[in-house]
Amino acid sequence: MSRRAGIGGRAGGGCERSELGRGELWRQAPCMPPGRRQPARQPKKGTLSPFADSRTSPVKGEADRLEVSRKSNRSVEWTITVCQNPLMRSRLRRAAKRIGCLFAVLLAGFWLFYLWQPYRVDWVERRPERPLPRVPIEETGMLSPRSRVLIVVGHPDDDAYYIGGTLFRLKDLDATMRLVVCTDGDKSYYPFSDPKPLRRIRRREEEECARTAGIRDVVFFGLPDSRMAVDDALVERLADQIRWFRPTHLLTFDPKYPYRVSHRDHRAAGQATVAAARKVGFPGWLMLFATLGPNTAVDMTEKWPDVENLLAIHKSQFYGERLAWIRRSVKAHAMEAGERFGPALAEQFRAFRL
Ligand SMILES: [Zn+2]
Repeated sequence: MSRRAGIGGRAGGGCERSELGRGELWRQAPCMPPGRRQPARQPKKGTLSPFADSRTSPVKGEADRLEVSRKSNRSVEWTITVCQNPLMRSRLRRAAKRIGCLFAVLLAGFWLFYLWQPYRVDWVERRPERPLPRVPIEETGMLSPRSRVLIVVGHPDDDAYYIGGTLFRLKDLDATMRLVVCTDGDKSYYPFSDPKPLRRIRRREEEECARTAGIRDVVFFGLPDSRMAVDDALVERLADQIRWFRPTHLLTFDPKYPYRVSHRDHRAAGQATVAAARKVGFPGWLMLFATLGPNTAVDMTEKWPDVENLLAIHKSQFYGERLAWIRRSVKAHAMEAGERFGPALAEQFRAFRL
């Protein structure tokens, strides 16, 4: 059966279907005598042939049904014709492959864009963590002279950047603080080709920063910067610190901070500290900073000038315009936390017990 015959069902007689409209369904083919019209075929009584002419249907409403039926048959015929044609089949296959490749490229492009975009821009909204009920900072008992606070950070300047105001509040209360710095910080900004001088400089800066903020002891683990991994040895070292120091509060990074907006060393320090706390059955409060799910905050409004000076101690990292930018960044975070919890400037934590 030819395609046209299959569609129209009237291949015989040298006549062809008009494509122009319902009013001109039939026109005279060259084989017909001039002025003579092809007689319309009458449908058999009681049948609804899809090839019957809808205009001749004696039943009211049947014309529409016949029209729908004819269109449906046309689609089926076209599909069968295409599927049986090897050339069309291979074309369809190629088109499907191209669409699949295009979709994969778009997906990969979106993922790369998501990873690349600066966290300050945030075109893709960050997903907040599971919320915890709010806890007043007084309820945690951290701001007390009896507090023993163990702080675990990834790099030598993290404490000044993330919790400088809290450190000064604890210093005023004469709380006991101990700081663990996991890496040597040799992958940071430095004008040297050799990282050895940077390690010494950053250690000196951090010791001065700790003295200024009232931290009594600083422990340097000396792990490689930007290559920190959570393993049993690290967890055991941190567990030893907890067992020996017996803190009432443990301050560290929230390990669930989003991948795109956090340093891997920060996440590793937080993850290892939480694992160590679980290992020793730490009974006190875990206070996680750099978190998306805060439930408490420390008012640092009056301590802001001290924090500005604390940041300036890290001269190898923050100087000139960069120091000004870092100060603005820390203040913006403090204002954001303040809006959430009340004070003008605050440092926020995700506080909970294990
Ligand atoms: Zn850091």
